[in-house]
Amino acid sequence: MSEKTAGELLKEQLIRERKNGFLELDDAECNKAYDFCEGYKAYLDEAKTEREAVTESIRMAEAAGFVPMEKGKKYAPGDKIYYNNRDKSLILAVIGQEPVKKGVRIAVAHIDSPRLDLKPRPLYEDSELALLKTHYYGGIKKYQWGTVPLSLHGVIVKADGTSVQVRIGDDPSEPVFVVNDLLIHLADEQMKRTAATALKGEEMNVLIGSRPFRDDAVSEKVKLNILNLLFEKYGICEEDFLSAELCLVPAYSARDLGLDKSMIGSYAHDDRVCAYPALMAILDLKEVPPCTAVTILTDKEEIGSDGNTGLHSAYLPNFVADLAEPYGIPARWVLTASECLSADVNAAFDPTFPSVMEKNNCAYLNKGVVITKYTGARGKSSTSDASAEFMGRIRRMLDREGVIWQIGELGAVDAGGGGTVAKYVAELDVDVVDLGVPVLSMHAPFETVSKLDVFMAYRAFKALFEDQ
Ligand code: MN
Ligand code: MN
Repeated sequence: MSEKTAGELLKEQLIRERKNGFLELDDAECNKAYDFCEGYKAYLDEAKTEREAVTESIRMAEAAGFVPMEKGKKYAPGDKIYYNNRDKSLILAVIGQEPVKKGVRIAVAHIDSPRLDLKPRPLYEDSELALLKTHYYGGIKKYQWGTVPLSLHGVIVKADGTSVQVRIGDDPSEPVFVVNDLLIHLADEQMKRTAATALKGEEMNVLIGSRPFRDDAVSEKVKLNILNLLFEKYGICEEDFLSAELCLVPAYSARDLGLDKSMIGSYAHDDRVCAYPALMAILDLKEVPPCTAVTILTDKEEIGSDGNTGLHSAYLPNFVADLAEPYGIPARWVLTASECLSADVNAAFDPTFPSVMEKNNCAYLNKGVVITKYTGARGKSSTSDASAEFMGRIRRMLDREGVIWQIGELGAVDAGGGGTVAKYVAELDVDVVDLGVPVLSMHAPFETVSKLDVFMAYRAFKALFEDQ
């Protein structure tokens, strides 16, 4: 072996190359990532909406010994509790060894995803077809949602106050629904539209039936037949749509992607891909954590975190107040000492579309979790820009725990932009930085992530909870 040159030695000392994570891990560790993702795929298939994510997460939490939080109760180290906010967002906590005034450690991910919501009066018949009017939820390229098999999910509250859960189309034995698109043969005019309007909002109409009810005395027989089927199945009438939350999401399951099965293709990686690791990190805590560990699965991130189940509402500070008050401590003492990983996805570099990225400062598939110091747009507007001190703290923690991580901006300067819940956490006087999984085709009906990156998210949240 020839001796290293001065340049080689200096380079080793001063420059850290970030390799593909599969080259950093041995085969046993790679297998652990694949195994972890079997659970993740099952979660994706079970929890396609925020309500389903809350239900499934509570089921898993109760199996791990978590119980509903009781207001006014003084909890002891090791106690495992959860708070269900209106069946659409969820907070889980494991009480730590340190008194709560030392702060809590938070991993917060969102469980809402882009989709097509039904309008309050959705059902109509036109030309002997029954269709549903939709209003899209979150930022989507609408044209991507045409001709995709869709399933119907949600809840309907009937006139008598009882409610029914709806879920049709995920099981292969059930029918699916679809937004139809124009055939290419007759699309000369449509093809001249910009991509933003290739399918317009009021063209996102979902086909739900075509067979008429057999009675010549009535009009709109196809619509009537659909209402009859809904009545038989759920006992609802048309007016009940007014007090319902129904949406359409892709009907297919999560799948391994690539011959090497190194990736997962699915609907709603954004942000189940951080929600599931954040959930598992708190469920898997074996020892009592040093500080109280908190996982938050929140709603409404995709439409700005507004509403009482979004993180811009008071439900998080109220929860912290409920933890603190039995000790005679104001919530603000807890919040100011707390730390948070805002667990959301970032864009992964796509070699087909390199121009929107700045190659030195973007995230890549398989290089681990991505830390995003700031998001925003137009000169960092509307973001929580994490401090050098907190970046330093998280960087040391991840390196100490052997978590593979990278740094990433959300695209090149002025290429676009976006935001996360980080700024709403920062608003509460908590130290926070974004840390999550890089995604290809974000907000499409079929998004792509790397299994290794998913596993590293789990390791990162566990590191935060267990860090001494
Ligand atoms: Mn997100
Ligand atoms: Mn998103």
